[in-house]
Amino acid sequence: MDRSKPGSHPGSIWGQLFRTDYTGQSNLWPVVVSLLLIGLVTLTGKLYGDYLGITSIGMLFLLPVIFAAVRTGIYPAIFIALISFVCWDIFFIPPVLLLTASDPRHLITFLVFLLVAYTAGNMTELLRSRAREALQRESQTRALYELARELSAAAEMSGLGQHVVNQTAATLDAEAVLFQPDDTGKLQIAAANRSLLDLASSPNDLLAAQWTFENNQPSGLSTTMFTGARGYHVPVQTEKKILGVLSVKPLHDALEEQQRSLVAALAGLSALAMVRLELAEEAQEIKSLEASERLQAALFNSISHDLKTPLTSILGSVSSLVDEGSLYDVEQKATLLSGIKHSAERMNRFVNNLLDMARLESGYMKLNREWSDLQDIIGVTLRENQDILREHTIRIEMPDQIPLIKLDYALIEQVLTNLLHNAVKYSPLGSEILISVTRQAEVITVTIADQGEGIPVGDQEAIFDKFYRLQSPHNVSGTGLGLSICRGIIEAHEGRIWAVNRAGGGSLFNFSLPLEASTPQS
Ligand code: ADP
Repeated sequence: MDRSKPGSHPGSIWGQLFRTDYTGQSNLWPVVVSLLLIGLVTLTGKLYGDYLGITSIGMLFLLPVIFAAVRTGIYPAIFIALISFVCWDIFFIPPVLLLTASDPRHLITFLVFLLVAYTAGNMTELLRSRAREALQRESQTRALYELARELSAAAEMSGLGQHVVNQTAATLDAEAVLFQPDDTGKLQIAAANRSLLDLASSPNDLLAAQWTFENNQPSGLSTTMFTGARGYHVPVQTEKKILGVLSVKPLHDALEEQQRSLVAALAGLSALAMVRLELAEEAQEIKSLEASERLQAALFNSISHDLKTPLTSILGSVSSLVDEGSLYDVEQKATLLSGIKHSAERMNRFVNNLLDMARLESGYMKLNREWSDLQDIIGVTLRENQDILREHTIRIEMPDQIPLIKLDYALIEQVLTNLLHNAVKYSPLGSEILISVTRQAEVITVTIADQGEGIPVGDQEAIFDKFYRLQSPHNVSGTGLGLSICRGIIEAHEGRIWAVNRAGGGSLFNFSLPLEASTPQS
């Protein structure tokens, strides 16, 4: 810290005369100007002495004293008071050109000069020290504010530590190190404001920092503990625990009381930010734990519904056919076999969904894109799901000409299947399901419209999240995976999928796929 900064200590009297004040201004010029003023007053006194009289001239000599006192401080003002008095005495008090102190009245004048110099100088210094304190307070508040702002944006511990040491070092013109304990409780350097630091290599400072950590008290410079240490060490602590130690070694002066409080305040801010990050990390862990618990619950749920139920029904039908096959006529056998097929398809769909989800999650979903006819995919999907769709009326609306689209045939079929299954699951038996295809300039949009209950507006985005299910009044079983798989597949095709409510009741599930520039004409 240089002498112009707050907290400079006064040196010798000569140093006092010509030191610089807190604004960086030197005392030299005001003293020189005061000396010139003394010269001017002497000259004026000589020219107009007869008219002015000795007392008035004495009063005029107060001007340089006041000027010096207001512009500098006590010492320079007393120095100017002395010179002023000597000049007045030598040049104006008979016998002229001799320094006489015979008349006690002159001594009184001298005392008045000194008193003015002292009082005005003192006032100036008081004002200066107030201004200096205000400046210090302002810079401290700014430092704390800056650090708080930086820390609130820090998203990880290493970045946070670096902000703390950089801000501390810049504010105090010092070396700064943040120590944090390792698993054994031994302090390690977590961040330093530059690479080669005295603080990090001095055994005394390392010992002092460790002591501070263990005893929760400041140590080192300006304290009574580890007086040989070169740095000041404060605990970085919250009410409950000590998270580390902030160490500061001023590059020039010692640390003043106010600066030590600033270090403590910076350490306190850092502790709060560290706790915030720790809590955020914990919350993240809890969230992923919750997600994996939900995954487990959903898997158990689905396995019992979508795997166990059809498997039981297959086993039942197959056992009947094997054990009592001869008892059934052709029609009964056909019913049992169709039940087996239906259950096997259900299991197949479920396993496919799980596999797709796993592939999407692991990033292994590779698109096998080929020029395909949407009309064809819709036809195949309807055929393959005719059993499920049997209880609903299916209507299709599409333009005569649909361009071919480069897509993964099987995956888009999977999307259509999932959307149709939902339309069946979430709308009343016998209601209509409308499949429409529309073409805009650069996209083709497919819409599945049902006449079910629709989806609450707030959930229209969330239903595409994994395991997100709405409470259904009819207790429809499901896993909450179908729509998230649809979204994964459509987004892999650079398309978009969304749901809205249908005017007049029901929901509209739309997905759009981009048409490529080089689309071959069908
Ligand atoms: P699942 O149907 O197995 O629960 P999905 O991911 O396919 O999982 O759907 C998520 C949720 O979205 C469903 O639980 C349901 O509440 C809602 N949903 C999906 N399709 C429809 C639809 N056509 N009408 C009303 N709600 C729907």
